[in-house]
Amino acid sequence: MSKKGSRNYAQYQKQAEQAQRLLSKLPPKMRIVVTILGVIVLIAAAIWYYLPEIEYLLTPDVPPIADPVQTPDGEEAEVYFFDVGQGDSILIRVGEYTMLIDASISSAGDAILQNLDALGVDDLDAVVATHPHADHIGAMEKVIENVPIETFYMPVLPASDTPTTRTYENMLDALDAQNVAVKQITDETQIPAPEGAVFEVLSPYDGDNWEETNDYSAVIRFTYGNVSFMLTGDAEAPVEERILETGADISCTVLKCGHHGSSSSTTPEFLRAVDPKVAIISCAEVNDYGHPHRETMQSLNDLGCQIMQTWRDGTILVLTNGTGYSVNTWSVGAGAIPAA
Ligand SMILES: [Zn+2]
Repeated sequence: MSKKGSRNYAQYQKQAEQAQRLLSKLPPKMRIVVTILGVIVLIAAAIWYYLPEIEYLLTPDVPPIADPVQTPDGEEAEVYFFDVGQGDSILIRVGEYTMLIDASISSAGDAILQNLDALGVDDLDAVVATHPHADHIGAMEKVIENVPIETFYMPVLPASDTPTTRTYENMLDALDAQNVAVKQITDETQIPAPEGAVFEVLSPYDGDNWEETNDYSAVIRFTYGNVSFMLTGDAEAPVEERILETGADISCTVLKCGHHGSSSSTTPEFLRAVDPKVAIISCAEVNDYGHPHRETMQSLNDLGCQIMQTWRDGTILVLTNGTGYSVNTWSVGAGAIPAA
């Protein structure tokens, strides 16, 4: 024992002897009471100290919603974040399966069709209109008229919030004319997924009543093997908060930042829970809203994730075999090029 240690020990012994002396001065009944109280205080202190560990041990071992699914050997999932100006358009492809999420602004229609053509996509298993704003369904009419669609998913807004815009009406007319099966998308919607993949719809809920149309956005977590993508449409802080409150595992390798990198989305709490390795922002270089906002960029920089932006990097392609992933840029002319 070191000199210091022996001195400490002697000190403790002295204190213990003092305590014993004090205790022995008390009447016998009182002595028992004080001893019991002392033990209770010690146990309480130990519980307090080890509370986090105890809580952890008592928490049932709930597996994440998307249990890692076995992916077909060597099959890769491709997720394209198209460079389509001030809007969103995302293509997911796994083998023969294809899903298009949003169709940006109307002027992006030709670019979207060209991209699909270059990728050899001549039909779509699923199309999701995250919410009925013109920067998400702008070119939907054109897509519906030119590419056969198996199932079209969209949120149903309360009557008072149902859009009356020409863009929306044209989309509905085109769906009708092409005889496309239309389904309401809610957190209960089961979207059939290809082998190795899972689609989880985290929002909206049936009967939601939000102030902002953005908050009706379909929020989809797409998982391929062990790699997940959080695709949030334009959902803002209230939706992110509700998703957090469910306590679901929402960790993802890739986050498409909500609402084009606006500070009204991608709250620090949500970002911490998603904990992405890659953040994608889909917006135009020059836009009326100042997207992406400084606060969002700050949060992403603080997290230290890789930040990719369509206005700067062009179309972004994330490839994954379900275990690893790579971030690339892509264009019709050059194909995929690993991002620096
Ligand atoms: Zn938008």
